[in-house]
Amino acid sequence: MTTPPIIRAQVRESTVQLLQGDITREETDAIVNAANTSLLGGGGVDGAIHRAAGPELLAETRALGGCETGDAKITKGYRLPAKYVIHAVGPVYRPDDPDVALLLASAYRRSLEVAAENGLTSLAFPAISTGVYGYPLKEAAAIALATTVAFLRDQEQIRQVRLVLYNEAAYHAFASALAALVHQQSELRYL
Ligand code: ADP
Repeated sequence: MTTPPIIRAQVRESTVQLLQGDITREETDAIVNAANTSLLGGGGVDGAIHRAAGPELLAETRALGGCETGDAKITKGYRLPAKYVIHAVGPVYRPDDPDVALLLASAYRRSLEVAAENGLTSLAFPAISTGVYGYPLKEAAAIALATTVAFLRDQEQIRQVRLVLYNEAAYHAFASALAALVHQQSELRYL
């Protein structure tokens, strides 16, 4: 099995990167966790992040008192290579509810805002809500990338955002969504 190449694009002074991999290995300032409202850990990427960070992470998230859907909270990264973890809560997908798209966009935007408020310059996201929470990959990829690019266009603090996709299907869904955005937006171009 070969890993597909990293795809890079530029928006003003910042880069967006798509790659296939395990987010717990990322050496960015922060990795984003696809958490649930309890912030007490769970399966999927949440479980992997807690296992890799060690028990001190759960001790810190316990003290945060949970997090609303669409919001994000920051902790230290403990044993992870990343300095911080930003715990973002995406929505559980419901097909006929227009709020799910707004809540998913909000989870990405709040993560970027929290990173910027804390003086960070790089962060890595997983495909929030696309696992147990059931969000269709194609729609989730379009929302994730449109929200990220819109945020990066209006600021100078965050210089690098990586979307770390766990499998090939997620990587290809994000690659197609990025291609569509590059086609639409003149400020966004491939590197
Ligand atoms: P949610 O409850 O938000 O759907 P999940 O953890 O179930 O969260 O899934 C979110 C995404 O994270 C899925 O696309 C899943 O394949 C992916 N994922 C699982 N483990 C990892 C990992 N170690 N690194 C990056 N992505 C991961």
